[in-house]
Amino acid sequence: HSDVDVVVASLVPAYGCQRRTPLTNKNCIFTDALETLSKEASFCGSDGRSLAFIRAASVLRSLPSTLTTIEELNRLPGFGEHSKRVVQEILEDGFSAEVERVTQKEKYQTMKLFTNIFGVGMKTANRWYQEGLRSLGDLRNSQKLKLSKQQEAGLQHYEDLNMPVSRAEADLIAKMVEEVAHSFLPGTIITLAGGFRRGKLSGHDVDILITHAQEGREEGLLSKVIGQLQSQGLILYHDLKRNSYHDAFSPDSKSTSNMDHFERSFSIFRLKVASHIGDIGARDHSPESSKDWKAVRVDLVVTPISQYPYALLGWTGSKHFERELRRFSCNEKKMVLNSHALYDTVEVQVAISQS
Ligand code: ATP
Ligand code: MN
Ligand code: MN
Repeated sequence: HSDVDVVVASLVPAYGCQRRTPLTNKNCIFTDALETLSKEASFCGSDGRSLAFIRAASVLRSLPSTLTTIEELNRLPGFGEHSKRVVQEILEDGFSAEVERVTQKEKYQTMKLFTNIFGVGMKTANRWYQEGLRSLGDLRNSQKLKLSKQQEAGLQHYEDLNMPVSRAEADLIAKMVEEVAHSFLPGTIITLAGGFRRGKLSGHDVDILITHAQEGREEGLLSKVIGQLQSQGLILYHDLKRNSYHDAFSPDSKSTSNMDHFERSFSIFRLKVASHIGDIGARDHSPESSKDWKAVRVDLVVTPISQYPYALLGWTGSKHFERELRRFSCNEKKMVLNSHALYDTVEVQVAISQS
């Protein structure tokens, strides 16, 4: 490696959270391929392999320009043999034969279809695949299938929920929530988090944080808000989870789970729209095609103001950024970061040994 190589390499730090990533991805031809392989690996239960592809894709996403040579690739962190081979293939041929093969696989296509249903994870999708189910029609027509309420709603609103949510739609929903929240508790603070807070123009859902400047005032607010929206016919599905912070809190817990313990609801809103954008429904003539509403996934999360900064950071994403930030905190700073707090593991050890 020349001195120039060393300088270039140092421009791309190893942890995802240390990298600035442009909103528009200049390397999607590569990252799409790597993300396909990541999905395929996770469908096979190989989480480690799946993460390796995500890591490589994340590095390419952060580049200000399109990768053009294999030499540039050799200077980047985060690339294993397999990811390198895929990128090289695309550089040479314009596509990856391996990725093409994967996307043709019946199992890949079916798992992708099923895991795109709200409420369906890898395990369920795989079980259905093993049982010979292949399409949404198969699921809808199956007599013996036991669907959860969440999956039922996910299946029922599949088409809407797999249509991107625009920034304007997200703002509308945030405003709806804000108005109702203010009617119960003036001063409630509503924040749009998730991809929209990162500046994305569209997303798969709307992530909303709810807090109040006075600690404790936020308690019980969410059920009132949901109840009110529901009585107005604006909620198609919701599952209210109470705050479980105190049950779950264990300062020496080594749990790496991404789940937090806030009061929350992962819901589906019924959003009034003038007409379907692009009028996707128009190709058939079912009554559905003229419907003036759209089902939208909304995550509502309530946080006490004392934990709000951590919740905001944790719910802004991306998923990989959060994973990397937590890995960085742990490995480089010996601190634990989650959506509730940031603390020094050494001090906690001392506190535990003294108590
Ligand atoms: P998209 O546009 O696809 O919605 P996004 O970045 O907003 O992209 P989400 O899945 O909505 O993706 O998640 C937003 C962030 O919220 C994630 O980065 C994650 O850190 C956090 N998050 C999502 N689900 C949970 C959960 N169950 N518990 C804790 N944090 C979560
Ligand atoms: Mn989101
Ligand atoms: Mn979300």
